[in-house]
Amino acid sequence: MLPIIDNHAHSLASNFLAAGEADFFSFLSESQHLQFRSEMRHSLNGMLFEKALLQHAGVDNLSAYLAYRQQLGLASVSRLFADVCIKAVLLDYGFGHDLLSLDDFALAAGVKVFGILRLESLFEELLRQYDQPGTLESALERHLAESGCVALKTICAYRGGLSLLSQLTEENSQPETEVDEDESFQECRRTVLNSGRIEGRGYYLRLLALAFRLASRRGLPVQVHSGLGDDDALLQDANPLQAQSLFRRNNINGEPLPAFVLLHCYPFHKEAAYLSSIYEKVYFDLSLVNFLSAPSFSSIFQEALALAPYRKMLTGTDGHSQPESFWWAAGSTRQALASLYRCCKEDGLPISSEAIEKVERSIFYDNALRLYNLDLPPLPET
Ligand SMILES: [Zn+2]
Repeated sequence: MLPIIDNHAHSLASNFLAAGEADFFSFLSESQHLQFRSEMRHSLNGMLFEKALLQHAGVDNLSAYLAYRQQLGLASVSRLFADVCIKAVLLDYGFGHDLLSLDDFALAAGVKVFGILRLESLFEELLRQYDQPGTLESALERHLAESGCVALKTICAYRGGLSLLSQLTEENSQPETEVDEDESFQECRRTVLNSGRIEGRGYYLRLLALAFRLASRRGLPVQVHSGLGDDDALLQDANPLQAQSLFRRNNINGEPLPAFVLLHCYPFHKEAAYLSSIYEKVYFDLSLVNFLSAPSFSSIFQEALALAPYRKMLTGTDGHSQPESFWWAAGSTRQALASLYRCCKEDGLPISSEAIEKVERSIFYDNALRLYNLDLPPLPET
């Protein structure tokens, strides 16, 4: 089985083994209404997931499964990861609380872990800490140099929408006067001190532009939350087309853009595939939807792959909370690749199994290895 590099996920809840029948299925929904989430057990995705999981563990019902994994403890995690052959995971460590540390995650899952630095969490922390833009910006630069992360991530879709990225090109190409700059810095700082969140335009855009320039100089890709997610953002504001002006301009204040990885993308996976087919710096993954909508994932995957170069598509799970989210996401991605070969054959398309394997090696492993410059061995030649 070809190994997978999971290019985007989150750590597990430190008490994940305590999940009972009532909340075990909650990772199958992004709803903010916690009680409602369990309703996902009664969905096509939920039913198929439950059946496959019980079969994998060789038990008859969910309570037997939960008892089985409690008995195994942390070893239940590495079993799931080994079953779908996930070898390495890039973890966004800037969100959530009561999670396993990166080291504990690596140990439990039996995988190599790399960090993804979530920009907005860092911006918010720095704005609380520093009261002058100059010192804050030096601290940001230092932090990026010392963090050891392999990618940055922006959740600007949750902080005003992806259209912010298009505004970036216009607002930040104009040199601001010192007075204006200080005013927008102080306003941004007040917002963070009051609400805890960075939001809107002004100084936030300046920080994004600076972070992107630093990413470009350091060769770090920038992951961009897009498409489905929780209700904190309107879905229409997370359409990656809203960031197109940035991609087509191809530079930021005269410096080259970093590589961007559009995350999740669904239901805008065709838009993401299109962007990746016309802009050199745009990559994407289909994480999250691969475990939220596993029954339709093969067709979503094929729609994206029909348009995008396969060297631009990455494998991600967006796994979080429960280890089964990684297992279900990676399993449905393997399924999508397997059905690709079958569908091509059925449609009379002259594609060889060797050609499909090339696509698979690229999407599962080689693209992430190359893009994030990961310290991992290359796949053996076939
Ligand atoms: Zn995520």
